[in-house]
Amino acid sequence: MATIKPERVLSDLRTLAAFGAYKTGVHRPPLSAQDIAAREWFAGRMREAGLDAEIDGIANIFGENRASGRKVLSGSHLESQNHAGWLDGALGCVYALEAARAISEDQATRHGGVDVAVFSDEEGHFGSFLGSRSFTGVLDEKEIDRATDRATGLSLRQALRTAGWVDRPRHLIDPSRYAAFFEAHIEQGDTLENANLRVGIVTAIVAIWQYRFTVVGEQNHAGTTSMARRRDAGLELVRFLRVIDQRFPEICGPRSVWTTGRIDLDPGEKSIIPGRAGALFQLRDADPVVLDRLESDLYHLARVANEGGRCELAVERLSASMPALMDEALQAALDRAAARRAPGKHTRMPSGAGHDAQWLARKLPAAMLFVPSIGGISHHWTENTSDEDIVLGAQVLTDAIVDVLQS
Ligand SMILES: [Zn+2]
Repeated sequence: MATIKPERVLSDLRTLAAFGAYKTGVHRPPLSAQDIAAREWFAGRMREAGLDAEIDGIANIFGENRASGRKVLSGSHLESQNHAGWLDGALGCVYALEAARAISEDQATRHGGVDVAVFSDEEGHFGSFLGSRSFTGVLDEKEIDRATDRATGLSLRQALRTAGWVDRPRHLIDPSRYAAFFEAHIEQGDTLENANLRVGIVTAIVAIWQYRFTVVGEQNHAGTTSMARRRDAGLELVRFLRVIDQRFPEICGPRSVWTTGRIDLDPGEKSIIPGRAGALFQLRDADPVVLDRLESDLYHLARVANEGGRCELAVERLSASMPALMDEALQAALDRAAARRAPGKHTRMPSGAGHDAQWLARKLPAAMLFVPSIGGISHHWTENTSDEDIVLGAQVLTDAIVDVLQS
């Protein structure tokens, strides 16, 4: 049985954490000097493992295995959110590399191989899932031309030029080469920790449905307009959000979440009653039936608000993605591996966060493995996972990949 080397996994992760180290986390935006150095280092580690590794024209790293038999693709992303954690993304890259190493070191499994992929900008600094979308063939040159870093305004082309990668071709997936794609990741929530579990097997990556709420009232003087006659768009909007928050718990699914990410008041002055108010609102769930129900209710609540209120309230759907379903046979392989390595300590669960696997799932049977996040914290420099859980997850992933390679 291919056996991972715990010290190699932990030392690779700690070495990566030194690129852009920030407190106990990392600050490693894509194509920053630290990120470029981390990518060069990781590509070197891939070559040491016998993979033919190249960094491509979007800064993806692709490491091809020379083994003659069946192949599995695995990986994640290396860049971080700003001033964030050391494991988000890096964990899945190192696990994939370790699986490739452990499988090639074992006489019984070395005929099969793991290709390792590191997808650029999963965290959305320059765009949305640029690396995995490039790899799966749904990123065009025009979008790359337009992309700029949302924090610094730096153009993606310029950043790629600085790195020396701008003129390189972009790797494109060859689905016929692979039996499966696996991505491991920290959970980023507290489901596993709260249940005293150590491995999560992802059933689906949630769909995200987004809306704009617009309320039109009447802009007027905050001192001279009586309460009886004013039409305060801001107040009406806040009342509507309150009604949603009271109603949704009665009809939502067990893991539905909703977020008002932004509220705007127009004109937004202290002595003016807002004449217009707007909000960006988001629903997430892995079940489209639940999302349909919540959306119908949203429109119903808006009608009720319009009948009883003094303003006009409109709900406009901005986007609605479908959940990315993880492959059942691959989930079963992860179940078997987890049951062997951590009996009674694993569960199936949806992912509330987006991941590169949702794009790969359009081309290949895909699966995801979660390890616990201490305190449920991520996208913060205190993000962490115990060494024992890190090591366990690497072995469970490797076992599941072996299972698929040998099936
Ligand atoms: Zn991530």
